[in-house]
Amino acid sequence: MYDILVIGAGVTGAMISRRLSRYNLKVLLLEKENDVGNVVSNANSAIIHSGYDPLPNSLKAKMNVRGNAMFDQIADELDVHFNRCGSLTVATSDEQLKVLEDLVKRSEANKVPVKLLSEKEVKEMEPNISSEAKGALFAPTAGIIDPFNLVVHAVENACDNGVILKLDEAVVDIKDLKDHFVVKTTKGEYESKIVINAAGLYSDKIAEMIEPIDWKITPRKGEYFVLDHYQVGLVNHTIFPLPSAKGKGVLVSMTSSNNYIVGPSSEPIEDPDDASTDSYTLGEIRRQATELVPSIPFNQVIRVFSGVRPTCTRHDFVIEYAKSNKNFINVGGIESPGLVSSPAIAEYVVDELVSKLINLEEKKDYNPRVKKYNRLNEVSEEVRNKLIKENPDYGKIICSCEKVSLGEIEDLLSRSVPPRTVKAVKKRCRAGFGKCQGGFCSPMVTLLLAKHYGVSPTEIKWDKDHSEILVSEVKK
Ligand SMILES: Cc1cc2nc3c(=O)[nH]c(=O)nc-3n(C[C@H](O)[C@H](O)[C@H](O)COP(=O)(O)OP(=O)(O)OC[C@H]3O[C@@H](n4cnc5c(N)ncnc54)[C@H](O)[C@@H]3O)c2cc1C
Repeated sequence: MYDILVIGAGVTGAMISRRLSRYNLKVLLLEKENDVGNVVSNANSAIIHSGYDPLPNSLKAKMNVRGNAMFDQIADELDVHFNRCGSLTVATSDEQLKVLEDLVKRSEANKVPVKLLSEKEVKEMEPNISSEAKGALFAPTAGIIDPFNLVVHAVENACDNGVILKLDEAVVDIKDLKDHFVVKTTKGEYESKIVINAAGLYSDKIAEMIEPIDWKITPRKGEYFVLDHYQVGLVNHTIFPLPSAKGKGVLVSMTSSNNYIVGPSSEPIEDPDDASTDSYTLGEIRRQATELVPSIPFNQVIRVFSGVRPTCTRHDFVIEYAKSNKNFINVGGIESPGLVSSPAIAEYVVDELVSKLINLEEKKDYNPRVKKYNRLNEVSEEVRNKLIKENPDYGKIICSCEKVSLGEIEDLLSRSVPPRTVKAVKKRCRAGFGKCQGGFCSPMVTLLLAKHYGVSPTEIKWDKDHSEILVSEVKK
């Protein structure tokens, strides 16, 4: 019998599991995908929003502001790239300038530091901004993060502190036996005293497994361009248009890896698993983005992608006990600003909700720090040479675009949540993230994974089921 079973290893379930791992509890984290952070948490803008935008007193506002304040410590403990670059919400007309003043009032209500900038100040801070810019709201606490390693390292840290992770297991049914739950998956059954539903786009379906609910997920897709990291200083902050009913609008931002990202769109869709992109929507994103930053070099686009928001009919996060049994906690509808809110959501769920259900006794040997990871292109030449002397595989470059060595990929395979697919390697160490998008390194990564797991290269997947890269052997 587990004390707590968490469904879903996106950023929400990852942070909750990590928070639970401080205590003497038997915790199981179940994930339907073959890697953690592979759905909504895998495809977003990765902005650590300042929190001026959500409606005051909403859960979104509270969690965003608290989460933002936690991120320096979280990024340090989890060894994740994080840059508090600040954001600018830009007005391009006199009417929009008036809206900025309303946003200042909202910032004050949410207790978020902001500053109204004049046209001259905006243009000095962002030389490539549109000549139409009339002013901007500067939010210095906004930042950008590596969303992939945020989840991977949070789960690794949870597992290092005793949480059990099971991948490739989808929850298909839950029986509420009042003193405990029986959770049925595609592979087996688990008993647990408490269940936490952090299933993202499927959180409403999981909640309905034990009782009827009054909220629903209505998925909204967002498409993006990613640009190569050649041009330095295209923008120095995350640049937003004014927010609308559809969301925060099409932004232009650098990423934590010094690429640029342009997007997202916001379209309602039927199928939550629809991660397609289309040229009409991308064209519209391009049009809107160039209204803010006219010189975006679209000839440097190296990838387009989309992510799906678990938008909720409540227009706020759902973080509450189930009505029929308090031992079932729903953490659903975690759309933007869910990434920045995730550590605060975990704190609230564990300290406020779980603590009323079970005794939280701190572990004496809890370690908040994830195992450090050697990134050779981020250390001095002296350290790099020392590391190569100790392990010559650090001198063998596998991904020449992003300068990732064989030794670094081998290191990933000995961690507590090792990659099992080519995409999982890419998310962790950036092999395949560059200009050639894995054209050169993915065959080598495929062979490396096959050797490590003792299987044929034809069994290695790019990502989800049925995404094997090689069809069959043609030569022996
Ligand atoms: C386009 C876009 C832009 C965004 N930009 C930002 C941003 O800039 N800043 C920000 O703060 N937030 C942003 N967000 C929001 C943020 O990405 C999400 O709030 C967050 O990733 C949600 O995490 P989650 O863990 O709740 O969901 P997910 O990451 O989807 O995790 C849920 C997990 O549950 C698993 N699961 C589902 N059903 C089952 C089942 N039956 N059994 C087992 N496992 C199951 C899924 O496989 C998944 O891994 C954005 C989102 C989108 C789509």
